[in-house]
Amino acid sequence: MATGMGPQQQGGVLVVGGTHGNERNAPWLLDSLGRDPQRLAGYGLALQLERGNPAALQQNRRYLDRDLNRCFLPSLLEDPGNQQREVQRARELLARCGPGGSQPCLVAIDLHSTTAAMGNSLVVYGRRPADLALAAAVQFALGLPIYLHEGDASQTGYLCEAWPCGLVVEVGPVPQGVLQPLIVEQTSLALEVLLATLQAAAQDRLRLPRQLVVHRHLGSVDLPRDGDGRPAALLHPRRQHRDWQPLHNGDPVAGVHQ
Ligand SMILES: [Zn+2]
Repeated sequence: MATGMGPQQQGGVLVVGGTHGNERNAPWLLDSLGRDPQRLAGYGLALQLERGNPAALQQNRRYLDRDLNRCFLPSLLEDPGNQQREVQRARELLARCGPGGSQPCLVAIDLHSTTAAMGNSLVVYGRRPADLALAAAVQFALGLPIYLHEGDASQTGYLCEAWPCGLVVEVGPVPQGVLQPLIVEQTSLALEVLLATLQAAAQDRLRLPRQLVVHRHLGSVDLPRDGDGRPAALLHPRRQHRDWQPLHNGDPVAGVHQ
């Protein structure tokens, strides 16, 4: 759905919720915003509000055939033999709202929720200056931590990477499939600050903070597992609820329970 067509139409802004079909708060917010286009009209941006993976949302599943947020890879998109539902959905989104689409967008904001107790954060993929500028302005306004995802060859094809500028908003913790008013409210707040930042940039009046603090993704560490693949330990109790805090050599990470 399109809303808020305004004067500064250098390129539209795509706002996606429900890229993962079991994350229901952002789609709920976008549905309500879609019913009341005037709420966002003041930003003067050409907005496209989209449910990322409607088929998976209907089934309350993260995805049906393949994680949509790993589908934005030329090797998948350009393979005519690949008819997985999420790959087809990625092609649809790009054909309509991609930079060269029928309703072109230059920015993608991908709204997610998380079950982790890491609270609210922004995720950027790589070090594109426009992404970091957008993240810096939001961090300055809301104090959110920024997760810089880079250098992990096993995890690629994120939606945001297919647009010239884009980032992910993670809001939580909230269980999968559950609507919570505070989560909707926090998602809405982050979205409005992002749109205000883009509006300021479009009007050439964006002032950026002097510094940006990021948490770099250095790698993923799994729990120790039994020979049959089942976890052989849990997160160490002293590590619980200490997201975003440094891990030092010798700190306990996992605890084995007999
Ligand atoms: Zn997600």
